[in-house]
Amino acid sequence: QKAEWAKLKNEPTVTTDGHAVELGANIGTPKDTAGVLENGGEAIGLYRTEFLYMGRDQFPTEDEQYEAYSSVLKAMEGKPTVVRTLDIGGDKELSYLQLPKELNPFLGLRAIRLCLEMPDMFRTQLRALLRASVHGNLKIMFPMIATLDEFRQAKALVEDEKAKLQTEGIDVSDSIEIGIMVEIPSTAVMADTFAKEVDFFSIGTNDLIQYTMAADRMNENVSYLYQPFNPAILRLVKMVIDASHREGKWTGMCGEMAGDEIAIPILLGLGLDEFSMSASSILKARSQIGKLSKAEMATHIDRILAMDTSAEVADYVKANM
Ligand code: PEP
Ligand code: MG
Repeated sequence: QKAEWAKLKNEPTVTTDGHAVELGANIGTPKDTAGVLENGGEAIGLYRTEFLYMGRDQFPTEDEQYEAYSSVLKAMEGKPTVVRTLDIGGDKELSYLQLPKELNPFLGLRAIRLCLEMPDMFRTQLRALLRASVHGNLKIMFPMIATLDEFRQAKALVEDEKAKLQTEGIDVSDSIEIGIMVEIPSTAVMADTFAKEVDFFSIGTNDLIQYTMAADRMNENVSYLYQPFNPAILRLVKMVIDASHREGKWTGMCGEMAGDEIAIPILLGLGLDEFSMSASSILKARSQIGKLSKAEMATHIDRILAMDTSAEVADYVKANM
């Protein structure tokens, strides 16, 4: 099996009916790019930049960040590279940043909320990203977007820093896509509105499931509610993909679900454009997708979305898809 997968390393990811999707990887540090390429990754679908800020005693400087982002973009040699801006707070803390103690950190000041609250810190990251953009195919992604206003504010900061760099005579790529993670239910519900303004969506199912089911993703006491195949989740995923396609945009998925054997046939049938997973899952997923017909997977979708339970969906996929 491993030998069969290895042959797919330099192949595109195409279904039996000729539909191509992109298989990307989730990474945490520039060192991870080697594994992405070794495993035949066509893209980086999620670079979690928070690791650059963790395990140290002060913020990384603009130049340190520029070096990290540039090295990832260079290593990817023009392949799409989605860099997520700082997603700190919640369970991820920084020793040098005193965040307010909150009763519900996962519902508190984290990710884009914190970045908009601390614009100097955010602008430093954006400048580093914009400067690095000339070294590859950069796409900037904001985490935990809940409202259109947050997206507009964040995008305005990108535009502002880009204009500043240009007046300083510093080159910035003019083809940087700007997208958002869809990991808060309000954003999935409003995807049609967001789709008019973003360049792409990436569905973060790790958080989308937790927030939709109101079940802490780390809490074993409620892990029975953490149901990727609950039709509630699948209907949200469909809303997001359909909304993006109506506006000529694309949708990826970078939560754990994107690499799940049972999820893949459903996501293919729903029309997901990009799947981002741990590098070690890519070849297996390419092999699986290469044996499926997109048109046939699509014929199962209405039935699945009308099912009552997560278990029913999983059983149906195993038996029929
Ligand atoms: C997600 O929420 O699905 C996601 C990919 O982001 P993280 O796991 O870093 O929260
Ligand atoms: Mg998340």
